[in-house]
Amino acid sequence: MILGIESTAHTFGIALVEKGKIIINIKDMFVPKEGGIIPTESAKHHREIADILYGRALQESGIKEKDIDAIAFSNAPGLAPCLLAGLEFAKKKAKELGIKIVPVNHCIAHLEIGQSIGAKDPVLLYASGANTQIIAYASGKYRVFGETLDLGVGNFIDKVARHMGIGFPGGPKIEQLAKNGKYIELPYSIKGMDVSFSGMQTKLQQLYGKAQDKEKAKEDLSFSLQETAFAMLVEAAERALAHTGKKELVLGGGVACNSRLQEMCRIMCKERDCKFYCPERSLLTDNAGMIAYTGELMYNADRKIALDFDKVDIKPRERTDQVDVSWK
Ligand code: AMP
Ligand code: MG
Repeated sequence: MILGIESTAHTFGIALVEKGKIIINIKDMFVPKEGGIIPTESAKHHREIADILYGRALQESGIKEKDIDAIAFSNAPGLAPCLLAGLEFAKKKAKELGIKIVPVNHCIAHLEIGQSIGAKDPVLLYASGANTQIIAYASGKYRVFGETLDLGVGNFIDKVARHMGIGFPGGPKIEQLAKNGKYIELPYSIKGMDVSFSGMQTKLQQLYGKAQDKEKAKEDLSFSLQETAFAMLVEAAERALAHTGKKELVLGGGVACNSRLQEMCRIMCKERDCKFYCPERSLLTDNAGMIAYTGELMYNADRKIALDFDKVDIKPRERTDQVDVSWK
């Protein structure tokens, strides 16, 4: 039985996984009263909620503390104060229970959770608020095949939404507005395998500023934003599939909840004769289930991956390709 802890940004999560089965996966998200997230406030939220969620996870699952063999905790990448809150909790529990800790890279966990729904060796399109990357395992490492050169796609969507007077998070509302929109050409920016969104952001804001009918503009710009931004992501993901010769695509991150992005991925995969895997919503957004799941894979492959509590640290800026992959 592996206990999972997630705390990289706004979400604090607790999960229990045994033999690849997610027994329980619960979370609580820090929501700022206004504006973006302030790391220290989010960390405070995590500290306040940690024991409560942990207690709930044990109670609701009926699992006994003594049955937990190791703790998997997302130590990278993320906001340092938030990661520290998770580390503190992981250490406290490891000490109390006399067990070890498996440090898990959050981005890799988004990829590995694809295994729980059948993906064996996929390319991951990771589209979240702060992160936008295309990752796959190749020649002994998880490699970044493409990524955003400026904003994460979710943050880009949220910024445009805020400019149009739509509250946070913008993604779900943009998706609704897009349903009645018409296409307007926007800057399509893909350089090699990388994407960039700041040019499109500026253009969208200019177009909104000039529009006479703001309500209609919201719909048209939302539709055009989705068509353009998602086409860029799908193009980069398709190139990674072509380059690596892999035959599976997995989606991850909050933006992956968008039905239009899912549909575009599905079509691209069908045309390339690839399989498309989209985890359920609770496993797309930040969650501890994927951390426990990945931690268990690592722990089962190599017990030495589990460290004593005083040897574990956070790595806020660790890149996916810096992770030492000793467990595969
Ligand atoms: P994450 O950083 O993975 O927690 O994801 C949060 C991001 O996902 C935010 O930027 C949201 O606006 C975005 N998001 C959530 N749901 C949707 C959706 N249906 N369409 C587009 N973006 C979304
Ligand atoms: Mg994430």
